[in-house]
Amino acid sequence: MASSAAQTAAVVQTEVEQWLDENWDPARSVRAWWALLAGAGLSYPNLDPPFGRGYNRDQVAAVFAALRAKGAMGPPGGLGTMLAMPTILQYGTPEQIRELVPKILDGSHGWCQLFSEPGAGSDLAGLQTRAERDGDEWVVTGQKVWTSTGQTADYGILIARTDPAAPKHQGITYFLFPMQQAGVDVRPLREMTGHAVFNEVFLDGARVHDSLRLGDLGTGWAVANTTLGFERAGIGDASGGYGRAAPGTVAGHLDRACAEFLKGARPQVSQGHISPGTVKRFIAMAKERGLDQDPMVRQAIADLHSRVSVIGWSAKRAKGGAGGRTGVEGPLAKIGMTEALRRGRELGCRIFGADAQLWGPDTATEGWLQELIVFSPGPSIYGGTDEIQRNIIGERGLGLPKEPGPARDTPFRDLPANATR
Ligand SMILES: Cc1cc2nc3c(=O)[nH]c(=O)nc-3n(C[C@H](O)[C@H](O)[C@H](O)COP(=O)(O)OP(=O)(O)OC[C@H]3O[C@@H](n4cnc5c(N)ncnc54)[C@H](O)[C@@H]3O)c2cc1C
Repeated sequence: MASSAAQTAAVVQTEVEQWLDENWDPARSVRAWWALLAGAGLSYPNLDPPFGRGYNRDQVAAVFAALRAKGAMGPPGGLGTMLAMPTILQYGTPEQIRELVPKILDGSHGWCQLFSEPGAGSDLAGLQTRAERDGDEWVVTGQKVWTSTGQTADYGILIARTDPAAPKHQGITYFLFPMQQAGVDVRPLREMTGHAVFNEVFLDGARVHDSLRLGDLGTGWAVANTTLGFERAGIGDASGGYGRAAPGTVAGHLDRACAEFLKGARPQVSQGHISPGTVKRFIAMAKERGLDQDPMVRQAIADLHSRVSVIGWSAKRAKGGAGGRTGVEGPLAKIGMTEALRRGRELGCRIFGADAQLWGPDTATEGWLQELIVFSPGPSIYGGTDEIQRNIIGERGLGLPKEPGPARDTPFRDLPANATR
């Protein structure tokens, strides 16, 4: 299939549909299908070659439209593609990129994010997990928490303190950390969604080779902020295609047929987003329930449509690289999406009334709306809470004074524990 960054979205969609006619087969294993998608540069076609096709946002949307039209399974998702891959592409050595990125793109490896700790969430730079040098390796000891998909991860993006004598933000280093080893104990935590996506992760003498350090020693805070930027932006993006297979060697999905993950499939929807497709669903639901003439429902739909459209246009402008950027597009996008999510939740409850409380595959929305409702508080917490996004906008965007706190050049080990770290 020829490809060019100059192709129109319609041409891209036609070409991908032809490619799918030749290649998509639900009987294929997840591993084989994801390898084909990655090999054709279609897993994340926004990436430059050799990993993707350098497509713009409209061309990428056309690829996912083709996948959905064909009912084909989408590319691997999760924190590998959302966080680890773009950070490795930005900071990695050629060896790290060559070794790790292809295995994220074809789903061979699952990843998690080992950032938050019991005493370090919003104040992430107060983290206490330490990494101590031992020859060519680092020995890691500490505790992480809220580690999504930690129980099925092959690797984690880890930040740890390598120099307690350095000021808080300067003694942190970033590692690409192998999870499947002695010294790593992952304990699931159950959420109100009924799922156990999060985990506590206890690290006791776990090891990581220095060749898996991402960036220079002591620069982990800057690298982590890059990851957090991708997380904020990712919260405004919806994925395409069908199926919910999990990447990596631990989840056990790679050697199963794609068809197993497509049974009764609807397009894959992340509960963390309201996309234009979600708004269309709300409109269809309102019509089905005879509420499309209800002025309050119409008003809420128009409001949601406007918000989602503005978020999309802003993202397009930010990615387009044109002038007029504020530098706080990520926090603005994240706050915009978490507010849209809350409003979508309220609209869904208004349309379904008492039925919104019924959960499970036999309910009117097959449980989709209920998942969205119970998950809706999550996105305003992860990747930095809404309050923290507002602080960033105030300080970095509007130039307001920084929050008061201990002097930034005080050695970390001299800071009082818990209260101000
Ligand atoms: C669904 C979900 C998935 C997650 N997945 C991961 C993951 O995979 N990996 C990972 O490392 N972490 C993950 N997290 C953790 C998440 O990043 C933290 O919960 C978040 O950063 C907030 O930290 P905290 O929970 O310690 O709350 P705290 O920092 O204790 O905050 C408590 C409250 O105080 C407010 N607050 C704190 N400081 C300030 C301030 N300076 N100004 C104004 N208000 C403030 C906060 O906004 C919040 O309302 C996840 C969280 C959720 C909900």
